[in-house]
Amino acid sequence: MHELSITESLVSAILERVEGRVQTVTLVIGRLSGLVPDSVRFCFDVCTQGTRLEGAALDIIDIPGRVRCLTCDVELELPDTILLCTCGSANVDIVGGQELRIKNVEVMV
Ligand SMILES: [Zn+2]
Repeated sequence: MHELSITESLVSAILERVEGRVQTVTLVIGRLSGLVPDSVRFCFDVCTQGTRLEGAALDIIDIPGRVRCLTCDVELELPDTILLCTCGSANVDIVGGQELRIKNVEVMV
């Protein structure tokens, strides 16, 4: 599973860099990243078991896909993951929605 290896590396990066017991992890996941937030949640629970991240809340900020149409030169936000402009052209450049990053890690005090 794609999500499992990605979530594993996120969790080990957090464990490596952050000290103390983690309360909340906030992730930004673009809709065009190919990652399914629900699967990431599931993998997060699995990967954090027995670590300082166990029981931490996972907040996921979902970013919609954005493309620039090369036919009509308009930038638009996609309602889904289908790369198609409202003019009917599929000749588009992805300009947003592919991100996957840690936005914040909150440590228990
Ligand atoms: Zn267009």
